[in-house]
Amino acid sequence: MARKKSGKLRTSFRKKHQGRVREGDLTREFRQGDEDGLADAIHSERLSGKGDLTRKRTIIGKASTPDDAAGLNVEFNPDNATLSRGRVLSVHGLQSKVMTDDGDIYACATRQVLKSLSTDQRHIVVAGDHVLFRIQSRSGGIDPSELAGDGMIESVLPRHGTLHRTSRGKQHILAANVDCVVIVATAAEPTLKPALIDRMILTAHQCGITPLVVINKIDLVNAVDLAPLMGVYGSLGYRVLMTSTVTGQNIDYLRAWMQNRQSVVTGQSGVGKSSLLNAIDPTLSLSVGRVSTDNQKGRHTTTASQLIPIRGGGCVFDTPGIRQFQLWDISAGEVAGYMPDFRPYVSHCRYPNCLHVSEDSCAVKNAVADGQIDARRYDAYCYLLEEELAI
Ligand code: GDP
Ligand code: ZN
Repeated sequence: MARKKSGKLRTSFRKKHQGRVREGDLTREFRQGDEDGLADAIHSERLSGKGDLTRKRTIIGKASTPDDAAGLNVEFNPDNATLSRGRVLSVHGLQSKVMTDDGDIYACATRQVLKSLSTDQRHIVVAGDHVLFRIQSRSGGIDPSELAGDGMIESVLPRHGTLHRTSRGKQHILAANVDCVVIVATAAEPTLKPALIDRMILTAHQCGITPLVVINKIDLVNAVDLAPLMGVYGSLGYRVLMTSTVTGQNIDYLRAWMQNRQSVVTGQSGVGKSSLLNAIDPTLSLSVGRVSTDNQKGRHTTTASQLIPIRGGGCVFDTPGIRQFQLWDISAGEVAGYMPDFRPYVSHCRYPNCLHVSEDSCAVKNAVADGQIDARRYDAYCYLLEEELAI
């Protein structure tokens, strides 16, 4: 009975507050009672039982739960002027490394009362979080690689763009405040797979995080050959950058783009993610050409995320296991809505739940036939539905 009641509550809540942040008790209900409830709440269109899609999901999402949205912004100390502001680079057990805007790094504990506020999250503080902390001691070291001192995290500021894994209704946040997803593909080696780019764009879109598409290894092809494909992305409003770590083409642009952002760099193994980051900041010294361990799809990884500062500004997340955006949380019916070129047509299909694959009187398919939607984008859409969502 109680379950039923909570189900009813959820429905009416969706109608009244669509797209807005949910209230605490509701989320707690989801977490306790309904494994897929949280995902349902995030994607209010989800009607079918897609719970069997995947049991563990890693997605990037906008603030989607009260904890994400509000952070843990509890002002225990009105004298905030004495607190320092910083971003969390990594969390190891009870200790977080927090970097101030000046680049000083403090080893911080988390105030007990903050920890007691959330029992559902494994870590109350995650990489990428913006926090207020109290400096408790300074080491006074002159070696810049040394920690600047110790501190106590007093408050976690509101989050946006969280990367999280949902498992049995519980959310494990891997990274917070993701400003940008840099989607790296290659002109050659491995061959360009536009459907993969489309999928990654869609995931970024779904999460409201700005994507930047980077086509690397442009030195290996004649760039003119890529013009039609780039034209399609450009016309959809996506920024596309052709780069080469060999000739240095557009590396300055990429560096400038990442400068004031916390970015996730994603893409297949071997496309040159490490090479690009090294080109942007040689002091990162990431190993290039190493065998990837990214393909452990769905495996529970115990390695924690890290936020790595880039010299000259900006940070990049090293989040093991999510570089390819392989795991996502979307139902088939939602896909077209996240494709801006499809969106104008979907409401004109005969069937309101049209998936634009085999249905009659489908406005999307008509638009493809008329050349109003790029045929390759439509192929990518069908690929997504068939390969990823197994409809
Ligand atoms: P990751 O797996 O995405 O991190 O890719 P890596 O950075 O390890 O690079 C994979 C391979 O591509 C390495 O052998 C690099 O030397 C090579 N590579 C990276 N960028 C470029 C480029 O712009 N042009 C060419 N020709 N090769 C590149
Ligand atoms: Zn349709």
